[in-house]
Amino acid sequence: MANTPKQNFDPTKPVNMIDLTCEQVDSIYQHMLTKGMPEIMWTVDIQKSSWEEIRDAHKNGKKLVGFGGPVPVTLLRAFDCVPFFFDTIPTRIASMEDLCSRFIDETEKYAPTSMCAIDKAQLGVALKHELGVELDAFVHATVPCDSARIAYPMMERLYDCPCYTFDLPFRHDDKGFRYVADQIQAFVPWLEELTGLKWDDERKAKFKEINELSNEAHVYLKKLSDLRKKTPCVLPGRMLVLNEMAGFLPGTQMLVDMLKTQLEMGEMLADMGMTATKCPEEKYRVCLMQNMLWSNTGIMDWMEKTYGAITVMDGFGYQEGVIFDDLDNWERVKYQTAQMMLFAPMIHGATGPTDYWLKVIDKMYEEYSVNVSIFMGHVGCKHTWASGKIVTDYIQEKYGIPTLYVDVDAVDPRYKSNDELRAQIGEYMESVVGAHNYRKDA
Ligand code: SF4
Repeated sequence: MANTPKQNFDPTKPVNMIDLTCEQVDSIYQHMLTKGMPEIMWTVDIQKSSWEEIRDAHKNGKKLVGFGGPVPVTLLRAFDCVPFFFDTIPTRIASMEDLCSRFIDETEKYAPTSMCAIDKAQLGVALKHELGVELDAFVHATVPCDSARIAYPMMERLYDCPCYTFDLPFRHDDKGFRYVADQIQAFVPWLEELTGLKWDDERKAKFKEINELSNEAHVYLKKLSDLRKKTPCVLPGRMLVLNEMAGFLPGTQMLVDMLKTQLEMGEMLADMGMTATKCPEEKYRVCLMQNMLWSNTGIMDWMEKTYGAITVMDGFGYQEGVIFDDLDNWERVKYQTAQMMLFAPMIHGATGPTDYWLKVIDKMYEEYSVNVSIFMGHVGCKHTWASGKIVTDYIQEKYGIPTLYVDVDAVDPRYKSNDELRAQIGEYMESVVGAHNYRKDA
């Protein structure tokens, strides 16, 4: 993936977040076109399509629905709405210090600095009235955390549009899934009223098509996960960031196309005995726990180049995926949609008892042959820090791997410089893992 270009806004003037983002993504796209990079255009195609879909929702006769936390986005799409996941704002602007700090600083005028920067950034956009598009509705959940439970109701008031709240339980069992499925049922008449469309045969047929696409995407995602289990790992750590889009774009052709192309590329490289990583030889297989470091995703490239250490999986992006097994059975689809919501990235491990997180850890450490363990600890995610000791002791005892704790702000790049971060990871790699820094020696 190409890096985000430098700031292109005037900080003294109001910002239009959507236009600015669309322009930035388009400039990356045009740059790649002129540089003749057809083999990787698909990495930016999906970003361009998804942001422009939001910008052009009204022009295309659709309702624009902002959402926070896991909500049934496939149902929103069936009712001709464009769902806009607000977490994509902070993760998109995390590497742009000026823009990101503009919104975080605005929120800190009203909320504690200890609030998660994922929420601070998106709340700051609402407080400054700089989203750049009018919302027709806002839908949010009561998970994953206290931070979101503070931010979403505030955003509800600021956007002042129809709102629907999903009360999501901590329990990920039959009772929990049924509790959510009942709320999905109640969501349908609310959507009918919002859109003026009926939950009739035409709508149900459309919903089925969307869920078929969701299934297709999850089959590709599963195959990509299996590909990452192979040694050497063919696909670079950066692809994990791109694949996070599966969490909020289910049921779209653009997601299916991206995953399919990625898989074809990965399988072709594997057949040729090659990889798309930045190192000549894989030496270590890294698992990043807790959050992805959106403010510095380049750190994964650096680990690849410097130590031959490939990030094979990350705790945030890990997705088991849910495949709908009876698309004509509304009761079953509701139930599985509820499962999809409760197994969504971040929710799966960070909401509820630590046992859920340990399950994700077992999946990652057993199946991906991990031998380097890094707790990439986003400071705002306080409840996961509280479980950190249990989780890292578990990894030490069960897998014999000592874990590096790195405190970072996954969204606010001012928290820790690139040099500090490299020094911390480098010291661990060389003194604990015993890694050979072949860049330094070169
Ligand atoms: S990173 Fe942690 S604190 Fe931030 S929104 Fe996610 S669960 Fe909440």
